Amino acid sequence: MRDILKQALPQADEQALERFEIYHRLLAEWNERMNLTAITDPVEVAEKHFADSLAALPYLKAGMKVIDVGTGAGFPGVPLLIMEPGLELTLADSLQKRLTFLDALLKELGLKAALVHGRAEDLGQNKLYRERYDVALSRAVANLPVLLELTTPFVKAGGTAIAYKGDGAEELKNAKSAAFLLHVQLRSVELDSPLGKRCLIFADKTAPTPKQYPRKAGTPNKKPL
Ligand code: SAM
Repeated sequence: MRDILKQALPQADEQALERFEIYHRLLAEWNERMNLTAITDPVEVAEKHFADSLAALPYLKAGMKVIDVGTGAGFPGVPLLIMEPGLELTLADSLQKRLTFLDALLKELGLKAALVHGRAEDLGQNKLYRERYDVALSRAVANLPVLLELTTPFVKAGGTAIAYKGDGAEELKNAKSAAFLLHVQLRSVELDSPLGKRCLIFADKTAPTPKQYPRKAGTPNKKPL
């Protein structure tokens, strides 16, 4: 596994490689008991989960308050924390069993992050989390108009929500009214990825989120902005 990781993650030092090895082992072990990921082949885990998650690393630095919304088995938040342990990271998901896995994982990795159980629609209206973060990350959670409503309320004005996406142009086309209503400006950065079309979409927040967003749980999906 070490060689596969070295090849997929050329920027990782020995300590980071060791942590990615532990991550891969625990993912495989826990995946036998609970549904964490459909990807289990070591090369695919290294490329599609670990390396892909690191795409936002150049935009983050130690001390930043970052929330990963719908983190699942920890992507992209945990690989980013492995590479930059100085992040003040919160991992949020609506499924408690995934957080149980993440708690065990973080202990084995010797890394610290806050774990929060709840739906983004509810957490985004909770003053403990609303407009508290520099950056909100999300990967594979919803299409862009829905995602903007779920993630941008966590970000302070002046901060950014970053969405990991496939075809950026396609996503941006449908998100204009959501961006207007949520006071964000959208831009897309194409990634040079072996996985095909990949991009990061940045939603730069220009003013506080209007109080009515996010709407109650389920509504963003049923009636996207
Ligand atoms: N981000 C991970 C990744 O890239 O592998 C997980 C993606 S998984 C397809 C979607 C995750 O988002 C699940 O863990 C699910 O429980 C969570 N999720 C979906 N809707 C959510 C919501 N409204 N609030 C919080 N978590 C949500």
